[in-house]
Amino acid sequence: MRPLWTFTAMAVCLVTGAIVSVVVALSCHLWMPLSGAGSPQHPTENDVRVWKTRAPKGVDGPPQLAFASAGLGVKRTLFLSGSTDPGGSSDDHWMVVRAGLPVPCLQAIVWTDQDGRAIRADGAYSLARPVWGSRRAWVPIGVAWSGLAINTASFGLVALLLWHAARVIRARRRRARGLCAACAHPLVTSGACAECGTPSSGTNLSA
Ligand SMILES: [Zn+2]
Repeated sequence: MRPLWTFTAMAVCLVTGAIVSVVVALSCHLWMPLSGAGSPQHPTENDVRVWKTRAPKGVDGPPQLAFASAGLGVKRTLFLSGSTDPGGSSDDHWMVVRAGLPVPCLQAIVWTDQDGRAIRADGAYSLARPVWGSRRAWVPIGVAWSGLAINTASFGLVALLLWHAARVIRARRRRARGLCAACAHPLVTSGACAECGTPSSGTNLSA
């Protein structure tokens, strides 16, 4: 059998894995239901850590309140400003949306004022009028590279296994019909395939 880990197989599976990762993340954001926004909580240490690593430049923290909601493959955290708000309003919202499976690979940070207007949006694509409360109005398109690497490897491995399984099944079917497992040429004599030379009795196959 030709090696599974050929350059072509690896490249195709990695590209496939990356594309699937992004499509899955966007699908999670757009289609997966989110649980309710929940009750406001004092930001946890993790909230503050996430915020510190993702807050837009120029935004001082930490936030005063946090609402978190999560659905399959998507987590949305809403931070409410307090005394830290540079604009003087206590109603600014800083939202972090992270999406992807098995780990988040796309993320957006949106900073809106009390009327829902965007003050700043990093890694976010606006689908519609950015009215606050429209959960999916901001589509995360910022890449979280470590997450994308993990998801690409995960889906790429699945693609590689499916590819391998398809080759094995195809070879079995061809042999069962008296065809060469490698090229599907009819096997008229025992021994090797007259077309490609693959031993007809062996388990060799090549795609
Ligand atoms: Zn053949």
